[in-house]
Order: sequence, then structure tokens, then C-alpha cells
Amino acid sequence: MEFFDRDQIQQRLLDWYANHGRKHLPWKQPLTPYRVWVAEVMLQQTQVATVLPYYERFIQRFASVEDLAAAALDDVLQLWAGLGYYSRARNLHRTAQIIISDHGGQFPDELTLLRKLPGIGEYTAGAIVSFAFQRQASIVDGNVKRVISRLHALPDWPGQSQTHRLIWDIATHYTPKQQCHLYNQAIMDLGSLVCTPNQPDCSQCPWQIFCIAHQRQQTDCFPVKKPTVAKPTQERYFLLLKNPQQQILLEKRPPTGIWGGLWSLPECSLTQNISHWCKQYYGLSIHQQSPLPTFKHSFSHYHLMIHPIALDVSQTINVIRDGGQTCWYDQAQAITQGIPKPVKYLLEQYQS
Ligand code: SF4
Repeated sequence: MEFFDRDQIQQRLLDWYANHGRKHLPWKQPLTPYRVWVAEVMLQQTQVATVLPYYERFIQRFASVEDLAAAALDDVLQLWAGLGYYSRARNLHRTAQIIISDHGGQFPDELTLLRKLPGIGEYTAGAIVSFAFQRQASIVDGNVKRVISRLHALPDWPGQSQTHRLIWDIATHYTPKQQCHLYNQAIMDLGSLVCTPNQPDCSQCPWQIFCIAHQRQQTDCFPVKKPTVAKPTQERYFLLLKNPQQQILLEKRPPTGIWGGLWSLPECSLTQNISHWCKQYYGLSIHQQSPLPTFKHSFSHYHLMIHPIALDVSQTINVIRDGGQTCWYDQAQAITQGIPKPVKYLLEQYQS
């Protein structure tokens, strides 16, 4: 593969950025490693427009790495609820504690040290070094992958390890030593504002004269799509167990895995006899049960068909299963715990 003229690639992009780049994102003022880190973690798998209100709330509540490290994980997860990929929030919390305990409250400014911290991968480490410390480091996010795939008309899906590595190598080759932070922001902005997933505006692109996908009029063919594999579907009963005080039983999920550490509804497989199951696991006797409408929730790797069942129980006793945490959630109160979106939806629907 041949590279294009590096000086021209850099200069054209920096000139474009000076006139059209996004310079007013909230994590840029003031620009600190903590603020860059929180923003970049939120931006993993999430669009800027979605992140903005979450970021504002998060930074207001946890203004510094010290505040975040001292917070209860439940409070962090509560502010994260709705953003998805909750392992990001757990890693943020854990990393904040390591920064305090092992680094004296200061972010490391070396890629290798940063990458040892939970949840900081190649991209996030590069973003912290380049944006917060303004030192040379290349970065590749979804926008950069798309721009480079089109610029060089890369023939394979960027998720393939060889193509992934190639894109990093191309990005590194073009990233300048000087003004690296501006260049990195510029290429991400180019992908977000001009080289968009659908109908890129090539007439406004500073790299149009080089771009192979554009010359072939095949911008919609790049990046090459992932080979399709049908997602499997799982089916579960979600149990809305209501006591005479109109409270609903919630159960804290294990710290890792789907919805780790969040408060959810008890759930079981469709093969279970629900009355027996509730008796066996919670010691609760069911008086009445009525099915609610089934709906689908999709994760990155599978679909979940949720079959909600409303159940009346007479007991108000504390129930604990397998040493986990349970609580009776009061429907009259606003939802403040970290609760997954579909569970929050069910609680709201059920109490209305
Ligand atoms: Fe993207 Fe078009 Fe620019 Fe090529 S010319 S990088 S397809 S916007």
C-alpha cells in the first residue's frame, strides 16, 4: 500500500480544522487529563450528542478524580444508567481509585502506564496523551477508521485484526509530531462532520484529491461491512413481585457481566414454574399472576425477549437469594438507583 504525501495530508487537514473543527466541546475547557479521560470513556461506543448531558451531570457530581474515587459505585452507576456498557462505569471508578492509591492522584502521561489501568485501551491512552498532555500519540476511533478506510479504499472489514493494525499504522504514519492534538481532533471531526457514515460530503473534504473511495465513486462501499452473523435470541421471565405495600422486589446483579452491579428484577427461564421458583429462591408465595406485554431488548451480541409477569405476594419480609442483595423498591419514590433501561421502563409502566 502506498501512502499519500504526508505534509499535504497534515496541512490540508489542519487548515480545514482551523475553519470548521469543533472547538467548544465541554471537556476542552478546561482541558485536564481527568476531564479528557471521562469524556473519552463515555464516547466509546456512544455519539457525542448522547454523551453531552451525561458528561455535564457526571462532571458536576464528580468534579475531580478524588471525588470519583471516594464515591460509592452505586452513585457512579446511577449517573451512568441509560448510557449502556456499564463495565465502562465500573472501570472508571476502579481506575480513579488506582490513580489515587498508586499514582498520588496524578494521571500517568505514558501510553504504557495508562494502558495498565482498567478500561484504558489503545485509543483512550492515545487520547489522554495527545489531548491532555499534548504529546505525540496516534488515535483511532470509529470516525478515524471510516476516514482511513475510504481514503485508502481498504479491502477488508476494519474489525479484522490485520486491518485494525493496518489502520493504526496508517494513522500513526500521518500523525504529526507538532500539533498532534489538533490533528487528532481534526481527523475525528472530519469523520463526524464530513466523512459521515452515510452520504459523506466529499465536496467539503480536504482529502478529496487523494481519496480512492471518492475517485472510484464507491464511498458507500467503505469501510467494508462486517460479515453478517445472526444474533441469537434469549428469552427470560422478568418478575414484578409486588407486596401489600405496593413495593416491587429488586435484586442487585453480580458486579461483572450484563448490567453488572445494577438493580434489576428477578428473572428466570421460561421453563420454570414461576410459583415454585419464587418459593424456592425467595420463600415467597404467589397469590396472583398476570403476564404483561413481551418486548425485545438488544445487546451487542444477542437479543433478549423479556416476558414480564406481574405477581402479588403477601409477605413483606426481607428476601435474600444466594447471599446477594435484594430490596423492596417503593413505587411512590422517584427512581434513583442504577437501574437498566428496560427495567426502569417496566417499573414506570407498571406503576402508571
Ligand atoms: Fe470521506 Fe469523501 Fe473525504 Fe473520501 S473524500 S475521506 S469519502 S469525505
